[in-house]
Amino acid sequence: MTRRTSLRPAFVQYIPETLEDGVLYISPENRTVAHLCCCGCRSEVITPLDLTQWRLIYDGRVSLDPSVGSWNLPCRSHYWIRHNAVQWAEPWTDARIAAARNAQRQRTAQHYAPSQAQPVASEVSPPSPPKGLWERLLAWLAR
Ligand SMILES: [Zn+2]
Repeated sequence: MTRRTSLRPAFVQYIPETLEDGVLYISPENRTVAHLCCCGCRSEVITPLDLTQWRLIYDGRVSLDPSVGSWNLPCRSHYWIRHNAVQWAEPWTDARIAAARNAQRQRTAQHYAPSQAQPVASEVSPPSPPKGLWERLLAWLAR
């Protein structure tokens, strides 16, 4: 198996069922990018475009951010897609994968439940309620 060093972007409405080797399928409508693993193992790699997952940069050529780490595949491929080029990176250790998964979970939790990150309501003192009519009358009488 030879490691691929470039990908050809293809904008599609739907990701096709059978992917062609060397093509980076981009579906803006479904916010999904898919390609066959660049190591040549032909495993499908799906990278959802989401604030908490991958970001696609398109300037005529395509970059994906962050890197693509196929830890669930036997090949454990890890590479960056930069300007249609595949930049191979070192495979991560189990500890680093666990840490990255943890960080991803936290990002997702913060993104979907921002209220949990806010201070609790009881820490904010409520504004004093307006004085009632009777209280105001008493105050007037006491002048
Ligand atoms: Zn692979």
